[in-house]
Amino acid sequence: MKKTVFTLAIISALAVFCIMLAPKQASITDYAMNTVITVTARSPHADKLCQKALDEVHRIDNLMSPTAEGSDIYRINHAGKGSFTEVSPETYELIELSLKISEKTDGAFDITVNPLSELWGFTSENPSVPSKDAIKDLTQKVNYKNVLLNPDTFSVCLAQDGMSISLGAVAKGYGASQAAKILEDGGAWDGIVDLGGSICVAGNKRIGIQTPFKPRGEYFTVCEVSDTSVVTSGAYERYFKEDGKIYHHIIDPKTGYPAQTDIGSATVISDNGALADALSTAVFVLGLDKAEDVLSDFDKVSAVIYTADGRVVEVSGK
Ligand code: AMP
Ligand code: MG
Repeated sequence: MKKTVFTLAIISALAVFCIMLAPKQASITDYAMNTVITVTARSPHADKLCQKALDEVHRIDNLMSPTAEGSDIYRINHAGKGSFTEVSPETYELIELSLKISEKTDGAFDITVNPLSELWGFTSENPSVPSKDAIKDLTQKVNYKNVLLNPDTFSVCLAQDGMSISLGAVAKGYGASQAAKILEDGGAWDGIVDLGGSICVAGNKRIGIQTPFKPRGEYFTVCEVSDTSVVTSGAYERYFKEDGKIYHHIIDPKTGYPAQTDIGSATVISDNGALADALSTAVFVLGLDKAEDVLSDFDKVSAVIYTADGRVVEVSGK
């Protein structure tokens, strides 16, 4: 009798232990970096892990938001011409990467377009077409070469009056990959961090790529990926219509207007989320012909491009 009770107790304890360790799926949706963020994970501690990953995105947002007072980017933008601002190594690295992409794209990618993004109102609720003169005036101030770096002190300086920077084209990819790392380090079986089209997956996943200007969830292809970032840039992500014309949020630094491109959306796949994000924006501005050229400079990078006339073109890096 005693033996039976003892055996039953052991079996119950094992059952409780197994239930505690059984993976369950959790998903949290929130708002960060000016977009909707969804974190999904499978793990015995899925709720906690998703929350931790979300906290990481908010931490990076607070560090890099151009509007959050006291953030690294806010301090750089408000330091005044010629003043160096010390920033976190993470912010420094993303700015350094951005300047590298600017060099490689002959300025098609340029984080100093920020005053133009503000002028068009893409950072506000009510975007509208600005006057030609105002666009011309601010376009003259856009130049990544006037962002100066001091690697010894992780300091950044804007060398001209009226300049400001934004990491809008690169920080979401970084945030998604850092958050996915939290899921991985926390032992998640698998997970996805989706920051409004900047996606990073932990484990093996199938990721649908949105067809531009179609209802959300209508995919033109599905990519099978594992432990990597899949980042899409497209005109359809943020735009407004005025007099029947579409004006989107990705600016051509040379003209000051939304980039005229033969690309509907550019999706870049890379283990480096920040790089995938920067390149997806850069490829979108550059257009199909130059995409291959730019991507060929990078290891283990590939792209799926949906052209403006509805063709799907795959391009790979080195
Ligand atoms: P993404 O959604 O990653 O393609 O990035 C678009 C965001 O990057 C915009 O909302 C702006 O904040 C910023 N941006 C717009 N045009 C450019 C550009 N040519 N180079 C770098 N950043 C840009
Ligand atoms: Mg981008």
